[in-house]
Amino acid sequence: KLAERLKEITTYIPKDSILADIGSDHAYLPIYCVKNKIVKKAIAGEVADGPLLAAKSSVKAYQFEQFIDVRKGDGLAVLKETDSVDCITIAGMGGALISSILDNGKEKLHQVSRLILQPNLAADQIRLWLLNHNWKLVKEKILEEDGHIYEILVAEQGDSEAPYCNDEDKEKQVFFGPFLIKEKNHVFYKKWKREYNEWLRVLEELDKAKETVAIIRKKSELKKYIQWYKEV
Ligand code: SAM
Repeated sequence: KLAERLKEITTYIPKDSILADIGSDHAYLPIYCVKNKIVKKAIAGEVADGPLLAAKSSVKAYQFEQFIDVRKGDGLAVLKETDSVDCITIAGMGGALISSILDNGKEKLHQVSRLILQPNLAADQIRLWLLNHNWKLVKEKILEEDGHIYEILVAEQGDSEAPYCNDEDKEKQVFFGPFLIKEKNHVFYKKWKREYNEWLRVLEELDKAKETVAIIRKKSELKKYIQWYKEV
């Protein structure tokens, strides 16, 4: 059974897409998409040998070799122009890694119309990358599964400023998510309440430490987040 998190991602893949799932691990996501006729074809990219073998053997077990090409490589390097990939999923990694995969493969994105990104943490780094590279967030989702909270960001090429409103601090919207901060559902509150408690704990620790420039900086950052949390 496909994880709820991955199943949710598949709902944002346009029908008949040519998909690239980067960091595919067991290739569960592309397999589900082919099985349910969501995509025409898929490429499962993996950088590590173990997951690559796992992906190859699951694709073989389903006899989907003609629909899913499992390729070894770093990020978007596995893609060729002739693949005509129009949708990319990158899930289950940190926001910094996802942003660096996008940044290193920028020139592979021209034909792509939709990115579906699911960071395990630091979604703000992805939002910042999208904002600076003309990718417009079109949807955000926050969900909880087995005690973990996940965010899914869906972006299309276009006016990256569009989802951000002028009467609210931009940095704060990038941090919380322009859609999520408006919606404020119970998972959103749960996530940020957890973070808030952690910030308070760290701040208390730092208050005991000797003041250095780095500590002063960290404390003022935490105070900013705490203030934002209270405003939200
Ligand atoms: N996408 C799956 C999911 O969400 O369940 C698997 C997530 S798994 C935690 C992350 C996978 O990304 C690992 O299999 C890892 O080898 C792969 N990975 C990490 N960096 C990568 C990169 N630069 N290019 C391709 N794959 C990468």
